Amino acid sequence: MSFTQSSLKVGELATGHELNVPIFRFRGTDVEAPRVYIQANVHGAEVQGNAVIYQLMQRLETANVLGDVVLVPLANPLGINQKSGEFTLGRFDPITGVNWNREYFDHKVDVEVWYAQHHHLDDAALTHAFRTHLIAACQARLDGEWGITSGHQLAVSLQKMAHDADIVLDLHTGPKSCKHLYCPTYAYELAKQFSIPYTLIIPNDFGGAMDESIFCPWWQLSEHMATQGRSFAVAVDAFTLELGSQEHIDLEDAKQDAHGIMAYLSAKGVIGEQVLPAEMSRFGCYLKDYKKYHAPLGGMVEYKATLGEKLSAGQPLANILRLDKYGSDQVLTPLTLPLDCVPILHFASASVYQGTELYKVMTNVFEL
Ligand SMILES: [Zn+2]
Repeated sequence: MSFTQSSLKVGELATGHELNVPIFRFRGTDVEAPRVYIQANVHGAEVQGNAVIYQLMQRLETANVLGDVVLVPLANPLGINQKSGEFTLGRFDPITGVNWNREYFDHKVDVEVWYAQHHHLDDAALTHAFRTHLIAACQARLDGEWGITSGHQLAVSLQKMAHDADIVLDLHTGPKSCKHLYCPTYAYELAKQFSIPYTLIIPNDFGGAMDESIFCPWWQLSEHMATQGRSFAVAVDAFTLELGSQEHIDLEDAKQDAHGIMAYLSAKGVIGEQVLPAEMSRFGCYLKDYKKYHAPLGGMVEYKATLGEKLSAGQPLANILRLDKYGSDQVLTPLTLPLDCVPILHFASASVYQGTELYKVMTNVFEL
């Protein structure tokens, strides 16, 4: 299976240099098979998704690819190049301060009105019409005569490509993190295909992220049609995969995740061969039970809890060291949580302000 390479201009610098993202396309042999869009590195420091795309493309080259697969690594050239000393910043647009993954376009489709105008169509024609509507709305946003911010320009350009697919995977990492997956409630059975131990099951709410920008309009349409007595399955899958920690490339680990993605693509009929998911335990948690723990005081942090392992109530989470309090019992503050949980990620730095989001933990975890 051969691929083609192209690029898309997503912005321009003050010097006139163009910002481009690379696009790799594997053309499928079956027009009925689902089409796939996979991007990585929208957050500048979250580089591991590029390694996963590298491993995935090597698998696809020898696979029987039925549905078109479009891969966009290095999807945020400005963010990726936003270095400061040894580190990559690249989480927020440096001009507006907005998180690059909160810039996607909220369609706010009035599904009641839209469906009233299109209810005479059969499912295939309805799917085509709705997809066309979403893509045209993105283009109109890009063409707006008042212009749009750099962050929005990037996000909506990517989103427009992604709307053309039936399956969208956005590859991220946490700061220091174990692997986890954001999965819309309707698709949660599919979480078992990926080689990812923890799944966050998310509702139909738009918060600006890529995955939500893709599935929310379709989910809303599906729910509205159900109230009109017509069953119409959500026509797209969209997931955010959090593949470990930022500022880190691990090619062997990327192979495991490429395998998980191949297993999912196999289950969806995108590739002709059967690829079985890894045998492993998988756990889920509803987003409402995903808790943020903020530092109760500033200081130096010793992170104690192991990511991805159960932590019982009262066990050590972290220590905060305050040398300005040396000689008192406040020099060292052990932190614990009042309930059982699984710590999923923690802040990347060992020094924090009071109020820093120190850990994110899953509670009420269950086996998938
Ligand atoms: Zn991210």
